[in-house]
Amino acid sequence: MDGINETTFKIAGGVNESLIVNMIRRRGPISRVDIAKLTGLTAPTVTNISGKLIEYGLIQEYMVGEYSGGRRPVLLKANSEKTNMIIIDIRSKEMVGYLINGGLEIKEETCHDIQNLKPEKILSLLEDTIAECHSLEDGQLALAIGIIVRGPVMSQEGLSLFSPSTGWHNVPLKYIVEKRFQLPVFVENDMRAMALGAYHYGPYRDIKNAVFLGVGGGIGSGIIFNGELYRGFGDSAGEIGHTVVDVDGPLCSCGNHGCLEAMASELALVNKVVQSISKGEKSLVSEMVKGDITAIRPKHIYAAAEEGDELAISMFQHVAQYIGMGVANIINIFNPQLVLVGGGIVKGRKFMEDTMMQVIKERALASCYSSTRIEFSSEGRKDALKGIVDVVMEGIFLR
Ligand SMILES: [Zn+2]
Repeated sequence: MDGINETTFKIAGGVNESLIVNMIRRRGPISRVDIAKLTGLTAPTVTNISGKLIEYGLIQEYMVGEYSGGRRPVLLKANSEKTNMIIIDIRSKEMVGYLINGGLEIKEETCHDIQNLKPEKILSLLEDTIAECHSLEDGQLALAIGIIVRGPVMSQEGLSLFSPSTGWHNVPLKYIVEKRFQLPVFVENDMRAMALGAYHYGPYRDIKNAVFLGVGGGIGSGIIFNGELYRGFGDSAGEIGHTVVDVDGPLCSCGNHGCLEAMASELALVNKVVQSISKGEKSLVSEMVKGDITAIRPKHIYAAAEEGDELAISMFQHVAQYIGMGVANIINIFNPQLVLVGGGIVKGRKFMEDTMMQVIKERALASCYSSTRIEFSSEGRKDALKGIVDVVMEGIFLR
């Protein structure tokens, strides 16, 4: 069979198919016996479906595994030749396009600045970047397109509800891009994509319940419940950034006041430093921007803290209290085995960790806290990329 197209997926599609293909991609080379163990599917089902997936060219048989007496198992892995896809990661300042395959090999990468661009311009840049990646394909057609976007999305509809980095409100990304490129399109929020990637490809994949808290320009989370991403009834679960932690707090990007995001994101950190410098407090940060407080960015605050700047360090500690409150709230609600804190703010970890852990200990109920591990990750964007590839591979089987 020489091509995989939508008809193939309509015939081949199904929950078990998507489960098996992703298990092979994440853990391959892997034997059929181990796939059955990990998925809970019967051996004949695994054999039957993997045979079909080999025939379609999505997976391939690999080297003979470790000899442990008896017959040597044939292992399975993703077929990197026939699983190309285009992924667009829309970050706070840039749009990155990838041509990548199901084995997570990046074949091409392209990057465009989106700062100071109007929402419509960013939308047309999205189409241009996809076209650019499309033209880079090495003879094999892309199976699908995945888009990572900041802010709340409705994944099923492929709708970006509002996105602070692009200025989009209710933009039907899936509809627009499918119409233009005639390929299946999948849209996911960056934090949920990050949670999926960190969970399925990291050392935590045997944990059943975990919450990934991302703190960058905004704050969001991805909730892993019983080994799967919990999306919520209306596809909006995980918006921890918009839980209120100070009723009199500053305005948030969502329009409310005192949300966690308005108190503890990198943007909140910048705002606090700007306020303090405006009031006359001294800081290395003002020297770094030559007195132009509008030019202050998170990188200046990280750099100043590294040089021992008191204001920068105290602001990290201020923000750390609120992140600690956010984590304590997560622990009290979900009682997860793991809370993984990621995003840009992790660069300031050493200035925040003690304060954060102190607040978590004080605010979380002992019964919930005692069973929760708290860890940090600086792999955010890489994890998000892995996560969206999973979303795409699952999605093409479930359409
Ligand atoms: Zn908010």
